[in-house]
Amino acid sequence: MPQTRPWIGDPIWLADVLRAEGVDLVEYPGWRNRGHGDFKDIRGVMVHHTGSDHASAASIANGRPDLAGPLSQLHIARDGTVTVVALGVAWHAGVGMYPWLPANMGNWHLIGIECANSGTSPTAPHRTNWPDAQYFALVRCCAAINRRLAQNSSRTIGHKEYAGRAQGKWDPGAIDMDILRADIQARIGIIPHPAPTPRPPVPVGQYADILLFRGSEGPQVAELQRRLKYGYAAYAGHLVVDGIFGPQTEAAVREFQRRTRGLKVDGIVGPATAAALRLNVVQPQLLVAAES
Ligand SMILES: [Zn+2]
Repeated sequence: MPQTRPWIGDPIWLADVLRAEGVDLVEYPGWRNRGHGDFKDIRGVMVHHTGSDHASAASIANGRPDLAGPLSQLHIARDGTVTVVALGVAWHAGVGMYPWLPANMGNWHLIGIECANSGTSPTAPHRTNWPDAQYFALVRCCAAINRRLAQNSSRTIGHKEYAGRAQGKWDPGAIDMDILRADIQARIGIIPHPAPTPRPPVPVGQYADILLFRGSEGPQVAELQRRLKYGYAAYAGHLVVDGIFGPQTEAAVREFQRRTRGLKVDGIVGPATAAALRLNVVQPQLLVAAES
């Protein structure tokens, strides 16, 4: 019976679940003691290409003059050989964001997989220059890790989805992440009780002062109504944007909270609900201007 509990800390089971998935696995010397400190809760997998078809597992373990290794936990060669090079945190994700990750914290929440591949080009069709052996080893690795963590394949992301073009990241190149995720999901099968999707901590700085409830009035209430009306038209499309927090606004807030995991259903918009809504915060000076 595979274990599927959520996991906090270093993935000491990594080699075992990969071998159980039928992966051709090599344990790089010292991998259990390699890493830049300990993981927090492991929320998923991030896929990369190395930029060269010939980058070795040793180069991932040891790093470069400008960046100390490990640069990921796993390396996949073009012949499909998977090498586990580190158990602890690796420098692979860098800065970026994704809905279920705290901003810029990917390294502490994602197991990184570096595939020895040039990536071909940012616009190359899916699996151009990805040998079957390498691609299906990647699918197996992601499936084994996601399943062990009771996650569906939505928890495997590409570096390009997190860091994006703004930072010049397009890896893994020639991989359509949606197709990859479909292939991974087919291999995972059905997860009976998927781990709940975590929310990043509330960005207190931005939302700390938000507190709206029945009877509140003003531009911030109007902004809330606008967000609900146009973002959640299915149940809030009828709202009138009048800046007055009445029964209908409260009902829409409750419905939003009911549908959003982790929120208390109280009809009050505090920092957590405001963050989940990605509410546009009306600046105090604008409030003054609007009110004067
Ligand atoms: Zn990358």
